[in-house]
Amino acid sequence: MLEELREEVYRANMELPARRLVTYTWGNVSGIDREQGLVVIKPSGLEYEALTPEKLVVVDLEGNVIEGELRPSSDTATHLQLYRAWSGIGGVVHTHSPMAASWAQARRDIPLYGTTHADYFYGPVPCARDLTPQEIEAAYEKETGKVILETFTERGLDPVFTPAVLCASHGPFAWGRDAMQAVYHAVVLEEVAQMAYRTEQINPQAQPAQTAIQDKHFYRKHGAHAYYGQRE
Ligand SMILES: [Zn+2]
Repeated sequence: MLEELREEVYRANMELPARRLVTYTWGNVSGIDREQGLVVIKPSGLEYEALTPEKLVVVDLEGNVIEGELRPSSDTATHLQLYRAWSGIGGVVHTHSPMAASWAQARRDIPLYGTTHADYFYGPVPCARDLTPQEIEAAYEKETGKVILETFTERGLDPVFTPAVLCASHGPFAWGRDAMQAVYHAVVLEEVAQMAYRTEQINPQAQPAQTAIQDKHFYRKHGAHAYYGQRE
């Protein structure tokens, strides 16, 4: 079932240790087949060396296991919240990549200090609010997803233009049109988080890049008037 998607989600998961975004079993990537409404995701607690496309788990959008011997990632409910709310995304990734997780632990948005950030994320990468003790107790992973959605709704953000979020005291989620692009965004996010950290080290009074440069860099790669790179 879903052989092609399994293969792609497998390759996307293996990118996490290859790009040094995860340690041990941390992190997980999923991808969705929108026609069938089925999600392929990493199993819970499995070492990356032991992962194969066949060991990935297929779940429906309610979280029922449709195919697979192993339990799906414990973060599955968060992934499903994002897929259900945002029809424009096809892949989701969660890591504890160290610098992005450091901003999450500091409970701060990552300010847009330069064009590397502006090329991929429109505006700051938002840090979501803390979950309440009741939310943590009731359905932690599902509520994590709901708080991410709340952040984007309240701030009027488009998830396609800002394809990542920081969960307070936790770490980042990123997404994209498919699983590989989600991981690509997670890799860029870690780089951008590093640069922002260093920017503030060098100049604690550093200010975000001017709006004109933010817009220029974002819109030359995205939207109707994009001209960066080659036509697809
Ligand atoms: Zn986590």
